[in-house]
Amino acid sequence: MTPRRSLLALPLLALSPRPAAAQAGPPAVVASFSILGDLTREVGGARIALRVIAGPGVDSHHFQPRPSDAQALRDAALLIRNGLGFDPWFDRLARAAAGQRAVPMLTVTDGITPRSMEAQHHHHHGGAERRTQHASGPRRVADPHAWQDVRLAQHYVRAIAAGLVRVDPAGAEAHQGAAAAFLRRLEALDAWVRAEIATVPPARRKVLTTHDAFGYFGDAYGVTFLAAQGIGAEAEPSAAAVARLIRQVRAENLSAVFLEGQGSQAVLERLAREAGVRVRGRLYADALSPPDGPAASYEAMMRHNVALMVAAMREGA
Ligand code: ZN
Repeated sequence: MTPRRSLLALPLLALSPRPAAAQAGPPAVVASFSILGDLTREVGGARIALRVIAGPGVDSHHFQPRPSDAQALRDAALLIRNGLGFDPWFDRLARAAAGQRAVPMLTVTDGITPRSMEAQHHHHHGGAERRTQHASGPRRVADPHAWQDVRLAQHYVRAIAAGLVRVDPAGAEAHQGAAAAFLRRLEALDAWVRAEIATVPPARRKVLTTHDAFGYFGDAYGVTFLAAQGIGAEAEPSAAAVARLIRQVRAENLSAVFLEGQGSQAVLERLAREAGVRVRGRLYADALSPPDGPAASYEAMMRHNVALMVAAMREGA
């Protein structure tokens, strides 16, 4: 067949052969947030019609869905969420969208033993939400950021592959093959992270961030993450908070601090200046960067974060 130029203007779907099943076109799969979307795209490729609700640069913890998001969930063959309290709005959206049929929901952290974290350290970047100090001590919740350990991201990929095979059995071989190739790349990524961290003297494997999202990374790769005490992304920190940070930086002998995700550059830069340390750049924890940024995929995000951290930790060693 000779393709004619005019054909190229048609939507791709119109040109693809229909699957034998009654279903029209590739199965619609909806992932809750950007990192999950990237892992799903690696496995499903062109065999699925993927939609990501909380896209690059979007804070999933406090995401506000739009009405069109509910429609996407209603039409889907499979919904994919992180779970562990990371994307509760996705569950609400799914419940609201559920009409005559319930769309299958895959929770990629099922089967993972979660670590716990202090609730108040985590949700401090949430817009109008106020942090509350509990008189009885910090409340502990499951830490949802399991993807920061590459081996747990592999668990996600295996779960995604199994989920896609269930809704697209005709594509089983393709999904399993793509997952196997991706898992090998993630194996190499995990080894690279370990080799990079190993170049840092153990006493210097410490990082200060504004957002407590690297617990799994720290557990897996032997890096201690210190939360910048009393520093929120929005609020201007008090003089006492600045003084506390300066003491923390000196006590831990840190040479650099990092900004994470949506945090305010100006606040952290002021703090760093007063503490005599440098802001070494932005770590991506909860969302990918836009396509032209340094963390446009899961693999790029991990390499970007590790390169920044290692350079800072090695400095002055
Ligand atoms: Zn987070």
